[in-house]
Amino acid sequence: MTTSPTLSLEENLTAAAQWCAKRGEKLTDQRREVLSLLLSAPGSMKAYDLLAAIQKQKPTAAPPTVYRALDFLVAAGLAHKLESKNAFVACCDFEHPHHGVMLICNQCHTVKELSDEVLEARLAEDAATYGFSVAAQDIEVKGLCASCRNSENESNP
Ligand SMILES: [Zn+2]
Ligand SMILES: [Zn+2]
Repeated sequence: MTTSPTLSLEENLTAAAQWCAKRGEKLTDQRREVLSLLLSAPGSMKAYDLLAAIQKQKPTAAPPTVYRALDFLVAAGLAHKLESKNAFVACCDFEHPHHGVMLICNQCHTVKELSDEVLEARLAEDAATYGFSVAAQDIEVKGLCASCRNSENESNP
């Protein structure tokens, strides 16, 4: 099972906990809380946004707890880090380790992840012809999402 919009937040979190258990790790309350915020966010979230959200419930929460939880989630493949924004998103397909191809909307900042192994393999192959080795990094594609394009068309007929 993978995180998907057709699953409820609880179901996604249960799948994530099972994934951690399979790896011999534990989705602790802190990690679960951070993942839950990422899953609920329409776009990416920065560490301090996450900290602020957590501090609403637990005013004593300290930055290192959030950073440690994020490190864990990224290492476990449950989240991706968007380098260009220094922000994080929940992964939509964590059971298949991959680099995400992230479609980032310039206007509303939503992020949609494409899971495209063919594209990833092709990129690595093309880079290899130049003797270039691609680092484990996500591909970030900037543009306009469907709903922003629609509202633009409405305002500029
Ligand atoms: Zn992913
Ligand atoms: Zn948009």
